[in-house]
Amino acid sequence: MAIQLETRKLANFINGEWVEVSESTGVTNPATGEEIVQVPLSNTSDVEKAVQAAKEAQKEWALVPAPQRAEVLYRVGYLLKERKERLSQLLTQENGKVIEEARGEVQEGIDMAFYIAGEGRRLFGQTTPAELKNKFAMSQRAPVGVVGIITPWNFPIAIATWKSFPAIIAGNAVVWKPATETPIMAYELAKIFEEAGLPKGVINVVFGSGSTVGDAFVHHTDIRVISFTGSNDTGRNIAAACGKQLKKVSLEMGGKNAVIVMDDADLELAVEAILWSAFGTSGQRCTACSRVIVHEAVKETLEERLLAAMENLTIGNGLNESIKVGPIINKAGIDKIKSYIETGKNEGAKLLAGGYELTEGEYRQGNYFAPTLFTDATADMRIAQEEIFGPVVSLIPVKSFEEAIEVNNGVEYGLSSSIFTNDVNRVFKAQRDLDTGIVYVNAGTTGAEIHLPFGGTKGTGNGHRDSGVQALDVFTEWKAVYVDYSGTLQRAQIDV
Ligand code: NAP
Repeated sequence: MAIQLETRKLANFINGEWVEVSESTGVTNPATGEEIVQVPLSNTSDVEKAVQAAKEAQKEWALVPAPQRAEVLYRVGYLLKERKERLSQLLTQENGKVIEEARGEVQEGIDMAFYIAGEGRRLFGQTTPAELKNKFAMSQRAPVGVVGIITPWNFPIAIATWKSFPAIIAGNAVVWKPATETPIMAYELAKIFEEAGLPKGVINVVFGSGSTVGDAFVHHTDIRVISFTGSNDTGRNIAAACGKQLKKVSLEMGGKNAVIVMDDADLELAVEAILWSAFGTSGQRCTACSRVIVHEAVKETLEERLLAAMENLTIGNGLNESIKVGPIINKAGIDKIKSYIETGKNEGAKLLAGGYELTEGEYRQGNYFAPTLFTDATADMRIAQEEIFGPVVSLIPVKSFEEAIEVNNGVEYGLSSSIFTNDVNRVFKAQRDLDTGIVYVNAGTTGAEIHLPFGGTKGTGNGHRDSGVQALDVFTEWKAVYVDYSGTLQRAQIDV
């Protein structure tokens, strides 16, 4: 029996109060097609209330010593831990990812809470010698004020923790717009913040569409930072709008990630990793493997082994523990995948497995797509260049290590890459030359850990990182402080 929500309609969380909104829309379980809950469609006056609450609350929060701010995040971590199973089950219902992966995603939030709470006793700046006598110099992190967070549906809780926890520990207040497809994790996390004793207004959740609520965040003059994860089209527009206002913006966007399989690779391990990276979360991860760049010497063997292993993938409702591949988020996602299958065929890639939507019997009510394998793709094909965001992977044969690196780097994105080889020289050359923000050796393209920086190069981002200590750079300003205790006017660069 699936865990049920205690409400049929969610409310915004503004200034510590649950505020109902008259307009709403249904949230559907992608595995069953059933409506789970109604999510508010807020308007710009709801955004205004949230921003004003955040602005007011931030003044006090910034004065709370960071180790005390951390105490709240430790409590958040313990509550997440206590509710891990409940949250995981709800996550599977709203997003579709299989329960094992949902548990992994909630665990990421728990890890983030404890990791970043530790920053409450660090938030390191620097002390440094001053160039003049009787003068002291240091740099320190200062909060920016009100932070706007906009998150996607594919990791509805983990990404929110990557952004909100560092923002909060640094003394900011947050307004958060979760994806309309997956609001339940936001509702549950807001309840946890409330129970953990976060002061009113330090986090505010405003549900609603990107074009209304998200856009209002982007254009609000009191929101000094936007931290966005989502598609490139949306990210580009947000960056342009923020650029005009000189507003700081952190973007984490799409990927076209590859596993490279060299001629000396452990093929059994590579097959396992490709399956996990390509078909886990039904390929709906920003780090999902959608290209396999394979040395021609092992191409046929790899194809055979992949096809055999794909036979064992079970597809269905992710609440069932034996299921490996869950549904696609919605019908638009299915249509996008279908159109790429046609594109791949027309471009001349060879379809080895899958390539169709599952619509019969138990699959009738949900959005299911068969795990799909193309081979003989070339690096310039659209299926080898563009993000598909579904369970589709294309094999691209290459003749050498150098060609493999070139093909990996020849896309507009730069999120994650992986290489399977047992040659130590290739390992070190690859980690130097692969131009992605994340590189794996003898592992698939997914599996980031929260204490390392997460993000990508080129079209994947704009130079910032989520998670890791680096996330603090998004949510703080560096302040340089000089204290002159000489009692005289000392002019830098002149009176030395
Ligand atoms: P999306 O359509 O860009 O939506 C992301 C968020 O932006 C949603 O909350 C959406 O709201 C909001 N939004 C839409 N239009 C907006 C606007 N004009 N102004 C402000 N906000 C707006 O992306 P998605 O389809 O949800 O997510 C999938 C994408 O995210 C993929 O490309 C994936 O690679 C990427 N992703 C990247 C990372 C990473 O760290 N690099 C991680 C996960 C996902 P509504 O949907 O509620 O309208």
